[in-house]
Amino acid sequence: MTRELLTGIGQLVTNDPADPGATGVDRLRLVADAAVLIEDGRVAWLGSASLAPEAEVVADLGGATVIPGFVDSHSHLVFAGDRSAEFEARMSGRPYTAGGIRSTVAATRAATDSELRARLRGFIRELQRQGTTTVEIKSGYGLSVADEERLVAIAASVTDEVTFLGAHVVPDEYAADPDAYVDLVTGPMLDACAPHARWIDVFCETGAFTVAQSRRLLEAGVARGLGVRVHASQLGPGEGVQLAVSLGAASVDHCTYLTDADIATLAGSSTVATLLPGVEFSTRQPYPDARRLIDAGVTVAIACDCNPGSSFTSSMPFCIAVAVRDMGMTPAEALWSATAGGAAALRRDDIGRVAVGARADLAVLRAPSYVHLAYRPGVPLVEATWKDGVRVA
Ligand SMILES: [Zn+2]
Repeated sequence: MTRELLTGIGQLVTNDPADPGATGVDRLRLVADAAVLIEDGRVAWLGSASLAPEAEVVADLGGATVIPGFVDSHSHLVFAGDRSAEFEARMSGRPYTAGGIRSTVAATRAATDSELRARLRGFIRELQRQGTTTVEIKSGYGLSVADEERLVAIAASVTDEVTFLGAHVVPDEYAADPDAYVDLVTGPMLDACAPHARWIDVFCETGAFTVAQSRRLLEAGVARGLGVRVHASQLGPGEGVQLAVSLGAASVDHCTYLTDADIATLAGSSTVATLLPGVEFSTRQPYPDARRLIDAGVTVAIACDCNPGSSFTSSMPFCIAVAVRDMGMTPAEALWSATAGGAAALRRDDIGRVAVGARADLAVLRAPSYVHLAYRPGVPLVEATWKDGVRVA
């Protein structure tokens, strides 16, 4: 197997904790003037470039910054249609509600598998060009047994991190009897989708699913061997965070409106709080307070929540810039949350860090330091991306 050495790395971000209690920039475990050896898709060695071993292939990165590939732990990338008119209306003053999901459901049901696959492949290329090497993808725009099954199957063709989100919103045909829809999701729909998925998720929010319905849905998924993720406290405070932690969720996502009790519960748990800066940006809602979470000891991830309604960005660098500017995070905290934090939200230790034995998932920044991700918002700093040791962008 060919060994490839990436050298000439001005600054290498490893996220490899010698001290698990480290905070801030110490958590990034930076190495200056570094090199990384790739073998069999994994990191085989890393350290000072002057000490690097021999390799058949050598790439000199000319002083670039290298970071772990971004881990985008929350997306909804299998869909059809366009909601730019809804966005324009919202920017003209109309409030965001969960109901717009239904228009994407109609467009997605009408699309063929090949249309959905082609669009998804385009998104994957788009993510890779921006340094993302792992993406979690949710279903949730089918909302029938056959459509949800095809969405999770299509998602599984591009990622191992597939989430069954049949409980995204109650479809129109069940509007008069939402509990009958919960019966469908926990029964035949779960039977059809569970073999393709690793996770189950529910949108626990006013206008979507109640706490009691959410508990039924998540417990049914757990009984089928799926891990738990929850959308909660996006539009207002609720009981979703407490429910998520009580079920041992890997992540509770949004967390825009948290009570002190929610934060204390998260801090005492292994559940990650995943913040989605693109949503507040694109809906003009107040941002979640990441500072309050981090200071309380909660593990925080950042993800794009790429979807056609509330956050149609696939750019982790953009989300980092917003998190730093408007959510109280330092540049180091935001980068950690977009890499190692995302890995924690997916309960993975083979990604989100550059360490011997970890996957060789790397992003090369044409910049002298990681700080430029937040310092130069909107600038395409990602020059190259390696996934499993192969250059993909
Ligand atoms: Zn979402």
